[in-house]
Amino acid sequence: MSRIKMKNPIVEIDGDEFARIIWNWVKDILIMPHVDLKTEYYDLHIKNRDNTNDQVTIDAADAIKKHGVGVKCATITANLDRQKEYNLKDIYKSPNATIRKILGGTSFRKPIILETIKSTVPNWKKPIIVARHTFGDLYASLSMEIEAGTKVEIVLRDEQNRESRTPFAHFEEDGILLCQYNLENSIYNFAESCFKYAMEEKLDLLFSAKDTVTKAYDTKFKSIFEELYETKYREMFAELGIKYQYSLIDNAIAKILRSEGGIVWACKNYEGDLMSDMVAAGFSSLGLMTSVLISPEGMYEFEAAHGTIQDLYYKHLKGEKTSANPTATIFAWTGALRKRGALDGNDDLVMFAKRLEDTTLLTLNSGFITEDIFNISTASNKRICTSEEIIDIIASNLEKSYK
Ligand code: NAP
Ligand code: MG
Repeated sequence: MSRIKMKNPIVEIDGDEFARIIWNWVKDILIMPHVDLKTEYYDLHIKNRDNTNDQVTIDAADAIKKHGVGVKCATITANLDRQKEYNLKDIYKSPNATIRKILGGTSFRKPIILETIKSTVPNWKKPIIVARHTFGDLYASLSMEIEAGTKVEIVLRDEQNRESRTPFAHFEEDGILLCQYNLENSIYNFAESCFKYAMEEKLDLLFSAKDTVTKAYDTKFKSIFEELYETKYREMFAELGIKYQYSLIDNAIAKILRSEGGIVWACKNYEGDLMSDMVAAGFSSLGLMTSVLISPEGMYEFEAAHGTIQDLYYKHLKGEKTSANPTATIFAWTGALRKRGALDGNDDLVMFAKRLEDTTLLTLNSGFITEDIFNISTASNKRICTSEEIIDIIASNLEKSYK
């Protein structure tokens, strides 16, 4: 059998710990035998980020801007412990934050749903996709401790150096302060990408915030979504039989929990961070959650939603058996292959992505599963496979699918 040729490369961003091990198995055992894989490789292993003073992360993001499609392995976000563990020169920023800052856009997290996996929330039958704005708010905020007796004013100075002052708080005792901001252009891009994604997936779109409390702030988000819907998307949505609605975030959470799913849920940066983990746990496991960052210029970065699976990595180093779920990593790769194939008019590549996804789901549905989903699987004759076994079984089912 000849391997599928690729026209343009995928930007491959390697990572850390156990995620890096799964990454290589997926590539070498599941993809390379069938695809003449063309990638532009960036090694974001924490030691290589340290050796390059994190330049490699910036280069990887720039490469996605150039080639349009990337796939990323989970990476360690450094902290004091990690600095000691890896003897790092610095505590570098989260690679995902660096990449998001360069690409901008929205991160969409989508669960992989299987016939034989019971959702933790039993009425969730269809995917709930959390669309997270990836700019500003808490992630670009200033937080500080304030001493008793301090008065806080907001001073705005325009380009002509004219000042306006707004008294804000008088600290009669010690306290804390938080300032955050966002930019209109980024909110427009966020809203645009949510409308486009909902249309691609043919799903209703819900945006939720708390405009009753942060009036100028959240009302800006709300009115930008409304403006785009009324001036641009309402008719296209109607043709697809889908709708847009706004809801206060507390109502939205209740609505989502009682729903059967089948919705794109747009959230601001912080709420998106929280709700995507809630939705992942509500469906099943982090091992069954995919994530894609879509930039306003239409660049795509696919990844698994989970981290480097540090605990299994240490077990593996001690020579113990592990049972890591490779599904989200497989789907990150198939997402990138499918998008690359679609952009390049390469039907064979698109079909291979679907074949690998179908084979993975078939394998799990037939009862060969990993420990994380054992308790929630309804497959008959289910058995726990090691990390190595599950990859080999998927590979052999993939071979069989060609016969
Ligand atoms: P994690 O790697 O997602 O793991 C958290 C727990 O989830 C694991 O201990 C494991 O639970 C379970 N889990 C996650 N993925 C799994 C899989 N594929 N199969 C089976 N179980 C899975 O998060 P973390 O331990 O908080 O973070 C570890 C490192 O990852 C940190 O350095 C963090 O900075 C980094 N991180 C990176 C990204 C990213 O690059 N996108 C995202 C998040 C975290 P049990 O084994 O306990 O059941
Ligand atoms: Mg999070």
